[in-house]
Amino acid sequence: MTKTSTPRRLLGLLAVGGALWLGSCEPGPQTATESNETPDTEFDKFKVGFIDSLWYFNPEWASSQGYHRYDSVLVVPSAARRKVEAQARERARKRLLANDVSKLSVNNQTDYRLIENYLNASRWYADTLRDYQWNPANYNLGASVAEILNGRYAPLERRLQAISWKISRSPDFYEAAKTNISNPTREHTDLAIRQNKGGLAVFGPALLDSINRSKLSAKDKEALLTRIGTTKEVIGNYISFLEQDVMKAGKFRSFRLGKELFDRKFYYDIQSTYTADQVYQKAQQHRRELLHDMGRRAVRLWPKYFAGQPMPADTVALIKKVISRLSEKHATQKGFVDAVKQQIPTLVKFVNDKKLLTQDPSKPLVVRETPLYMRGSGAGASVSAPGPYDKAADTYYNVEPLDELSAAQAESYLREYNEYTLQILNIHEAIPGHYTQLVYANQSPSLIKSIFGNGAMVEGWAVYTERMMLESGYGGGTDEFWLMWDKWNMRVTLNAILDHDVHVRNASQAQVLQLLQRDGFQEENEATNKWLRATLSQVQLSSYFTGYTEIYDLREELKKQQGTSFDLKAFNEQFLSFGSAPVKYIRAMMLKKA
Ligand code: ZN
Ligand code: ZN
Repeated sequence: MTKTSTPRRLLGLLAVGGALWLGSCEPGPQTATESNETPDTEFDKFKVGFIDSLWYFNPEWASSQGYHRYDSVLVVPSAARRKVEAQARERARKRLLANDVSKLSVNNQTDYRLIENYLNASRWYADTLRDYQWNPANYNLGASVAEILNGRYAPLERRLQAISWKISRSPDFYEAAKTNISNPTREHTDLAIRQNKGGLAVFGPALLDSINRSKLSAKDKEALLTRIGTTKEVIGNYISFLEQDVMKAGKFRSFRLGKELFDRKFYYDIQSTYTADQVYQKAQQHRRELLHDMGRRAVRLWPKYFAGQPMPADTVALIKKVISRLSEKHATQKGFVDAVKQQIPTLVKFVNDKKLLTQDPSKPLVVRETPLYMRGSGAGASVSAPGPYDKAADTYYNVEPLDELSAAQAESYLREYNEYTLQILNIHEAIPGHYTQLVYANQSPSLIKSIFGNGAMVEGWAVYTERMMLESGYGGGTDEFWLMWDKWNMRVTLNAILDHDVHVRNASQAQVLQLLQRDGFQEENEATNKWLRATLSQVQLSSYFTGYTEIYDLREELKKQQGTSFDLKAFNEQFLSFGSAPVKYIRAMMLKKA
């Protein structure tokens, strides 16, 4: 598809595409019998138009999903633009409401709810949350240019042209950004300064190199180089605006959302059966249970690892010592990637032997060393999945080799990802966690569910499988394994607690660090990073525990209902068959069928 030979023509095309959707085509009052249309075919048509419009208004989101038609478009975040978006949203809402949700298939009913939630949420973000005012880190051209530059989807020349056209409006972009900012938080201002400084690096030697070796015409090269010069200048101006004007004025709002906004954001972002308060209570309860279980197991393990030594009277000290001893069992610095590689077939076999769910042998997971341009995020391991527009591509399990680390750094990392935790990590990221869920999601072909994939469901599933595997006997059900799982699971539990504590209950940094270090057995460094993340994000830290708890509760409920006829494999497969939808909808559908 090379319809887009010149940027000007591309812009023309998309204006037409946008107008088609935003303009006429109101669904007429046809009945199903007259037109051969069923409510589902009508709704499917609506979805096509909706997604088109979504990408037209959100080119960078589109790009991240593998849809590159609008790569060259830069959205200038002005007040006028927000007005246009609000109008488009209301038109989309009208068209959505023209569908009778009760007449749709189960699959389309969920899609309907997801679109409805998206429209409501984006209106709330724009009108009430207004993070465009208080989060200066929303504006960072470097990040989106890097995405296009590193993408492999089109020849270099086309990607460079897209960049050239995109950054031609960079002065307008940063001008609008400055106008938007009003009473920001100090924390997001700090972040914006750091990220835009990093963003400047994108316009450095690597990009210039690519331009030099490209086959762009001399004229195009010159235009691009000029635009890069201008862009660097306006980014530099934005940084000094933040450093000088904003920082020196010192008028900041708190980074804490407060109860009302937090509850609402939780409602829109997580789409849970539970309220934010309920999740907080459940997390507190779970924290106590985990601590109790850890204490019990540490007592039993003590004589095995500390024979003849007096056991500490303080439970926290006891647990700490046992965990520390168990962490000594770990892979070597050089052998780390291989250790991960070797575990994958073991996990596949265990899932098959125990009949936990059906796996697709035609889609093996490819374990590889994380590509250089993706390293350094501190993720350690991650899954790279093909987006909804190129499903046939391989799925990679990226594992970061430890070669670059000093011996001391590697040792600390290897203790964290020791013999036990590394296996739990592989369950979570790969099998039957994120990777397996993804394979199932791709079999339930809904573009809407791929695009609006529910983070709490996705993370919740991965956390649920850790426990499900251990309950099924993985690792031999030893105290060692369960104790390490308790600690690992405590992390997501405390994430939910501190998210709420920070944004709703005004917890101080000292209180949060104490909680993480005492109940979470975390090192100071990890705890400090978590505090920082809690000040910059809202609700996201709650998603893991919320999804996990909802899935686990649903399973236990069905177990009770079905008694001896409950089948774990059937539960797992049915749960995954609905795609990455919010657990509350999956729950409704599974309870209906049960
Ligand atoms: Zn060691
Ligand atoms: Zn995860």
